[in-house]
Parts: sequence; C-alpha cells; structure tokens
Amino acid sequence: MPDTPKIVTSPLLSKHGFAHAFSLRTEEPGALVRALLAPQPLYQANQVHGAAVARGEGDVDALRQLPADALVARAPSAVGVRVADCAPVLVGAKETGSVAAIHAGWRGVVLGVIPAALAELQRDGDARRLVAIGPCIGPCCFEVGVDVAAQITAASHGADVVARRAEGKAYVDLRAAVRAQLTALGVAPGDIDDVPGCTKCDAARFFSFRRDGADAGRHLAAIAARSP
Ligand SMILES: [Zn+2]
Repeated sequence: MPDTPKIVTSPLLSKHGFAHAFSLRTEEPGALVRALLAPQPLYQANQVHGAAVARGEGDVDALRQLPADALVARAPSAVGVRVADCAPVLVGAKETGSVAAIHAGWRGVVLGVIPAALAELQRDGDARRLVAIGPCIGPCCFEVGVDVAAQITAASHGADVVARRAEGKAYVDLRAAVRAQLTALGVAPGDIDDVPGCTKCDAARFFSFRRDGADAGRHLAAIAARSP
C-alpha cells in the first residue's frame, strides 16, 4: 500500500520551520523520521518514566544509555523519544531554535518532566515555545485507579482531567493534563498543537502498550533544532 501514511506532523511546528515527525506503526522503527531529520545527529536517552532531562550533545551512543525522559538540544542536533500510549511532546523555541522532546506518561507528568524540560530549554535563552502533543492513549481508553487519577489531577493545576468514573476506576485525559502543565508554564494555548489520535483505539495506525502488551512496538517522535 504505497499511499499508507507513515508519519504525522504538526502544522504549527512546520509553520515555524522545525523539521519533526511522529511515526505511525507503518513506520517502525522510524526510518522515515530519521531520514527527515538527517544529517543532524538524533539523540535519544534511556527512558525510565522519570523527570530527568538530558542534553542532546556529545556521543549519540553514550547518551542512549543515560536515564532521561526528556532531551533538549540546539542546532545542529535532533532529539527524539519513543512511546506506545504515553504522550510524546515536541517543543520548538521560536527565537533560539532550540528544541525538546519529552516522553510524558502519567508518571512523568506527576514527577514534573515537562517543567524540567522547559526549564532546560529556557537556558538557551528566552523564547516563545511552540508545542505539539502527539498521539497518545485517549480518555476513551486510559483507565487508571482512583489513586493514580488523584495524582494526575493534583499535577494538572486545577484542570478537570478525569473524563469519567466507573466502579473505582477513572478514565483520564492525559493530553489535557499535559496541556494544563504547559499553560501553567506560560505557553500560550494557541502555541499548543494537538496531533490527534488514540493509540489504543486505532490499531491500524498506532502501537499500544495497553492493547498489545510489553511486546508492543514503539513510535519515534523527533524534532530537529534550527538556527535562530
Ligand atoms: Zn481510545
């Protein structure tokens, strides 16, 4: 099927000159994404559902061993995260051209990986931040215990992120929690782009840890820094 899309992108990030993409399951393990960002080195880290931030610089293979769930880089480098249900968040700083890639599952959201990544990005200079939240598990499918729902709610600055409750469970809108954290950090709502899709519902386009288990493939979400 030559016409099957292999990636999705954010019109907002494209408009501001940031090469980037979110791979679909037709694209595992992200060869087209890598090709789009070449020849910039693509940095990834060892994701552990924490809040540590790594700098995309130096040896690519060495950084791959470093535990971190967000990466920040300036040109000429690209950064990426791998996800299957967690939210991939790509950030471009309009003035500096620096970028961030964030692996934001509920644990990362609760631990503060998003503010940590934006703080690191800010070290390159004040900038308007342009953000794309990629396909992730939707409120239709993200069933968690009430304790986890309470933790995510507490991290969401008053936003209502519980879509519905049923028999001691809650269905959480992870994307809304990410958006609430971004706006609390001063990102303008109009500078946040939703690249839609529920990874669990849409088996034709997405891998899903919840649906497919530990053997599920992973999507690559990556973005290249550009000159100021
Ligand atoms: Zn769903």
